[in-house]
Amino acid sequence: MRMPPFSLHTPRTLDEALAISGALTDSDQKFDWVAGGTDLLPNYKWHLNAKSHVISLARVSELSKLSDTHIGAMVRLQDLVESETVHPLISHVSSKIASVMLRRSGTVGGNICLDTRCFWFNQSEEWRESIDWCHKCDCGSGANCRVIANQNERCVATYQADLAPALMCLGASVHLTSPRGTRSMALSEFFQEDGITKNVLEPGELVTHLKLPIDASEWKGDYQKLRQREAWDFPEAGVVVAWKGEGGSPIDLRVATTGLGVVPVLHQEASAVLDHWEGEASVEALAESIRKAVKPVLNTWFSPTYRRKMVKVLTKRASRGLLVR
Ligand SMILES: Cc1cc2nc3c(=O)[nH]c(=O)nc-3n(C[C@H](O)[C@H](O)[C@H](O)COP(=O)(O)OP(=O)(O)OC[C@H]3O[C@@H](n4cnc5c(N)ncnc54)[C@H](O)[C@@H]3O)c2cc1C
Ligand code: SF4
Repeated sequence: MRMPPFSLHTPRTLDEALAISGALTDSDQKFDWVAGGTDLLPNYKWHLNAKSHVISLARVSELSKLSDTHIGAMVRLQDLVESETVHPLISHVSSKIASVMLRRSGTVGGNICLDTRCFWFNQSEEWRESIDWCHKCDCGSGANCRVIANQNERCVATYQADLAPALMCLGASVHLTSPRGTRSMALSEFFQEDGITKNVLEPGELVTHLKLPIDASEWKGDYQKLRQREAWDFPEAGVVVAWKGEGGSPIDLRVATTGLGVVPVLHQEASAVLDHWEGEASVEALAESIRKAVKPVLNTWFSPTYRRKMVKVLTKRASRGLLVR
């Protein structure tokens, strides 16, 4: 598999990066940002919607700041694993992403903005051509989606990155910048129910950092992940349960999932079980309500039925700390 040709831009500052992105956008030339390249470059080798320009953020040191409440987009995942200042839940989730080698290159921004995945799409060009493409393949064929048949308007490729649910449970906001200015929003509002556009980023816009609220340190939690190979695989299902207060009597509760749909989801229904907290019975009710809320489709390794069943198991496992007094 040969890398398609592209022009690589390597700005040294954020202003320089925005000037390049502005010039390319104004002249209607498509481009991708690249951070660690652990997802984008394999996708380019498979000729998955490669662009003729790529802007690397590797030299933009302004994006690498890390503190307990500020996580720069270019912070490496392994730095989160080894950091003593970031929230323990973030370190734990990071340690479950890919392998150490990939985490030394892979970044927070790349993880949050990871492309959605589907076994009809993440294949070689020859393979995709042999099935006459699918709607997400940018080849102008007008092909249908292979998962939701007889339509070429909707893509339900799966979001399979690990970090987002933990950051959502801790109340993170995501900060964006473009030549037109800056904006921010709750991370749960960043993603879009469309496997092609994926999120609210506009042409030329990038993620600069994530911010955690001061009270994030008062939350505890756990992440449980289902994957094909423990060594390095993407989540087939991932559940974060986070709570405030002592385990035996939580005063607030949040649950978020990944790997089960087009977007990661912060489940608003989770806190309802707090009204009548009864320990194990409440955890059982919580796990069943999350199982019912997720609706995976058949486009990753394991079957939707198995993934849905495992969501209940994972939710219970991630809730163990809630039962410790
Ligand atoms: C074998 C293998 C196993 C993997 N396992 C996992 C796993 O278990 N869990 C998991 O979550 N991921 C996994 N990954 C995917 C990937 O390694 C990680 O998600 C990593 O965090 C991606 O970061 P990156 O910096 O390399 O992203 P890149 O490849 O550089 O970029 C990924 C995407 O994000 C965009 N992007 C990057 N930075 C920004 C920014 N600041 N603003 C806007 N857009 C941006 C790029 O344009 C691109 O579309 C795996 C990859 C491989 C090859
Ligand atoms: S969900 Fe449909 S359109 Fe999207 S990548 Fe899969 S087959 Fe293609």
